[in-house]
Amino acid sequence: MLSNSKLGFGLMRLPKDGEGNILQEEVTRMVDAFMKSGMNYFDTAYAYGGSEASMKKALVDRYPRESFTIADKLPAWKLKSEEDVERIFKESMELCGVKYFDFYLLHSIEASHLPTYEKYHCFEFLQEMKKQGKIRYIGFSYHDNAELLDEVLTRHSEVDFVQLQLNYLDWENGVIQSRKNYETARKHNKPVVVMEPVKGGTLAAFPEDIEKIYKDYAPEKSAASWALRYIGSLEGVMTVLSGMSNEEQMKDNLNTFVNFQPMSEEECGLVREVTSKVLSFPTIPCTGCRYCVPGCPMKIQIPDLFTAYNSAKTYGPSRRYDTWYKDHTQGEHGTASACVGCGQCEGVCPQHLEIISLLKNVSEEFDAS
Ligand code: SF4
Ligand code: SF4
Repeated sequence: MLSNSKLGFGLMRLPKDGEGNILQEEVTRMVDAFMKSGMNYFDTAYAYGGSEASMKKALVDRYPRESFTIADKLPAWKLKSEEDVERIFKESMELCGVKYFDFYLLHSIEASHLPTYEKYHCFEFLQEMKKQGKIRYIGFSYHDNAELLDEVLTRHSEVDFVQLQLNYLDWENGVIQSRKNYETARKHNKPVVVMEPVKGGTLAAFPEDIEKIYKDYAPEKSAASWALRYIGSLEGVMTVLSGMSNEEQMKDNLNTFVNFQPMSEEECGLVREVTSKVLSFPTIPCTGCRYCVPGCPMKIQIPDLFTAYNSAKTYGPSRRYDTWYKDHTQGEHGTASACVGCGQCEGVCPQHLEIISLLKNVSEEFDAS
């Protein structure tokens, strides 16, 4: 394997204050706990606002370079010319304070981004950087169907690994295609880095009757730990990323991965039972990545409105969710009904959600009350 860190610290959801500023001291404590545990894989991206600089302060400036590994990513949607490729790569190096990346990925390959990466010769650029010693291993993160993945891996056999969205809820999902994508990566013999194993927190908390299935079997284990163990038990999975937002999550995840216990067949059966119950709720499978938010002309806080909707659909309507909805539609932030249907959000959503039509459902749930 290219990494022996079974858990990766995903830096997309770092702890923030109410104004959106990263809480640097908490990040530093989390980095220390992670390093102390023997794990060393850090996953950042140019597109994760402020995460590269925060990682530099907490990790790169405080630990010997060879004691940790960094994965960073080039975003297709920020490339307007071939020159941007090298510019962004250099900028990322500077922001991270490193002379080489252990892992470097083309961020979010899907049908709409692939032509940009090919037009600007990004695969060739990564190979050149690898030759120059500025990248150890090249890869890409992926958000599309298995057929396209097969095509990309056939055309670009030079990639060393792939990063896939794998979790038990999406395993048989027709859009995300967790199982099929996993099998395709295995067919091409590529080590897999897993993203969204807890599906943006969806698999970390359930209504009481569902949670009981896990608690009756192992009272001390969190729901998130089941999701992580399920995915971490798959053959060929090199590293499971978890986008940790606080020290408690870090502690829970480390409990799961230090002395990792693969899942038994009996436990897999419980996961299947939970899956079928969760899939019966009419919720929106948004992972909260927020890629859709900055470009919305009506400044709609799309994932937050989906959170309110999903909570109401899972646990039943409550004043709590109405208040959450109101809090996220204050001032300049539009309500769900303010959507003008421009389609910007749908163009960038890695989950391929039909956001315009889903917002209509959200509006029916909240705007009328
Ligand atoms: S389609 Fe609606 S929600 Fe999406 S970016 Fe446009 S206005 Fe915002
Ligand atoms: S709607 Fe799509 S792009 Fe927006 S936060 Fe959810 S998953 Fe991400």
